[in-house]
Amino acid sequence: MKVIDCAFDGKIAQELENYLKELGFSAKTEESKVIVNDIDMERILGYFLKETNRTEYSVRKVDSTNFILAKEVMIEDLGFQRCEMCGYVVLTEEELLVHRRTHGIAR
Ligand SMILES: [Zn+2]
Repeated sequence: MKVIDCAFDGKIAQELENYLKELGFSAKTEESKVIVNDIDMERILGYFLKETNRTEYSVRKVDSTNFILAKEVMIEDLGFQRCEMCGYVVLTEEELLVHRRTHGIAR
């Protein structure tokens, strides 16, 4: 048995359940979790995301049973600042201003 946690996204869970059923697997959804028989889940989830154009989503394997299907969180979404020149990540705008000076920019 495999459990795919769709991170509170019941809509995707339902879609995934239907997708798995169409492929002939026995699947059921409990809230935002899809429970399915033992299958090559990583491969199937990869197809599912590709076919439904969910390129911003990714699958993380927690252990041999549990998977998490969720949107990739951008570092900016978490409130961090990223230097646009080198990708260096800092916590605040001020730190970013200080960091930028290392690239030889006055302000
Ligand atoms: Zn930088």
